[in-house]
Amino acid sequence: MVDVTIIGAGITGSLIAHCLSRYDLKVLVVEKESDVAEGATGANSAMVHSGHDPKPGTLKCRYNLLGNRMYPDLCRELQVRYVPIGAYVAATSQEEEKKLDTLISQCIERNVPYEVLNGDEARKNEPNLSDSVSKVLSLPTTGIIVPWEVTIAAMEEAMLNGTELKLDYEVKSIEKKEDHFLINGEIKTKVIVNCAGAHCDEITGMLRPSPYRVEAKKGEYFVLDHLDGSFVKHVIYPIPTEKGKGVLAVPTVHGNVLLGPNSEFTPDVEDDSTGEGLDFIRSEVAKTVKNIPFHKLIHTFAGLRPHIDLNDFYIQEDDLIEGFIHVAGIESPGLTSAPAIAKDVCENMILPKFKEAKARENYIRRKPFIDMKEMSDEEKEELIRKDPDFGKLICRCEQISMGQIRDVINRKCGARTLKGVKMRCRPGMGRCQGSFCEPDVTNILMEELHKDVKEIRLDRPGSNICAALAKEDL
Ligand SMILES: Cc1cc2nc3c(=O)[nH]c(=O)nc-3n(C[C@H](O)[C@H](O)[C@H](O)COP(=O)(O)OP(=O)(O)OC[C@H]3O[C@@H](n4cnc5c(N)ncnc54)[C@H](O)[C@@H]3O)c2cc1C
Repeated sequence: MVDVTIIGAGITGSLIAHCLSRYDLKVLVVEKESDVAEGATGANSAMVHSGHDPKPGTLKCRYNLLGNRMYPDLCRELQVRYVPIGAYVAATSQEEEKKLDTLISQCIERNVPYEVLNGDEARKNEPNLSDSVSKVLSLPTTGIIVPWEVTIAAMEEAMLNGTELKLDYEVKSIEKKEDHFLINGEIKTKVIVNCAGAHCDEITGMLRPSPYRVEAKKGEYFVLDHLDGSFVKHVIYPIPTEKGKGVLAVPTVHGNVLLGPNSEFTPDVEDDSTGEGLDFIRSEVAKTVKNIPFHKLIHTFAGLRPHIDLNDFYIQEDDLIEGFIHVAGIESPGLTSAPAIAKDVCENMILPKFKEAKARENYIRRKPFIDMKEMSDEEKEELIRKDPDFGKLICRCEQISMGQIRDVINRKCGARTLKGVKMRCRPGMGRCQGSFCEPDVTNILMEELHKDVKEIRLDRPGSNICAALAKEDL
């Protein structure tokens, strides 16, 4: 029998698995998609918010503040990137300046480091702040991460320490038996943690009427090519509104810039198409920044916030069904909050049920992904001498070698799809968006996974790439 089954391998499910992997428990993570981080975790602003903004007294506020403080150490432990880039919240009118004062008071109450600048002072550091910006709240503890990198690393390390991950496994039924649950009529488990994002209410509904209902709020983005700080150096927020934090300009860890998101309810919790919100983003972002290099646009995408009608996170053991733990409504600032949520759920909701569980001895740490861009020429030469595949360039835009692609496939929680390779080491993320390298990456996946081309997927179950894409090139 499994001790703990986690439904959903987004950042919350993966970090809970990671926390639990420190103990000698039998932990299983089930995920309906073909990889981890395929839900909201795979499409967002990638920011570790400082905690200046959530409503006082909410779980969002509490976990945001704790999570923000945990990220630097967590990322160091997992050997993934965390960049304390800082943020500017920009006011452009007297009315907005008053709202900024409320945020400043919240920073004081919450012990969030801050500085206040006038428009000219701020423009000295950020020349592309719009001329109408009159006052700025600077938040130095705002960070940026690669959300799927944190998730993959957490799951990889959990798996190195005994956690089992079942991909392409959709939970369709749960029965409550006397001392366990039965998932899909086959998995016996003592505890279930519901981290199913946009499908949390369906999972709960398999056992009882759900106390919350999920509605998806779509957020669309433009992605600009590598600008490496030449456009903005900080995250630029407008003044928040009832709809959320507003349309941002966000430098990414890899030197791109995201512009977005909007925030619109959408009836289909899986509809991540883009289009309708992009004009709005274009006009909104121009209120806080100028000289936007739209000619550097390389991509658009959308993410879906799993909003629940209780307007806060819902994190607790079910009041009727012992052993069923809700981690629901994890919309923004869910990424920031995830380490603190995972610690709380693990230490205060799960471990008290397994008093005999001991800390695992000889805990195995993961090795970082091989990033040749960060290496000196000598280090690269040494690597290529040991394995010539590191000298074969596959992705010209992002400078990724065949050796790096093989490495991300042949790991615990390794890539199984084209998107999986792209998330782990970036072929296809550059300005050609994979037009040149996709056939080669397909070829490598076929070789490493011993699969036929028809079995190689773009991403989710059913998305097998067509033979036409692969034909002569392969
Ligand atoms: C546009 C946008 C911008 C955001 N920006 C930020 C930000 O900058 N900072 C921040 O802190 N937060 C941000 N967030 C919020 C953050 O992305 C989410 O809170 C977080 O990713 C939620 O993670 P999760 O693991 O709870 O859910 P998800 O990542 O959605 O994972 C849920 C998983 O459950 C799986 N699943 C569902 N049903 C089943 C089933 N029946 N069987 C098996 N598996 C199932 C799904 O496939 C999915 O992989 C943003 C969100 C969006 C959409």
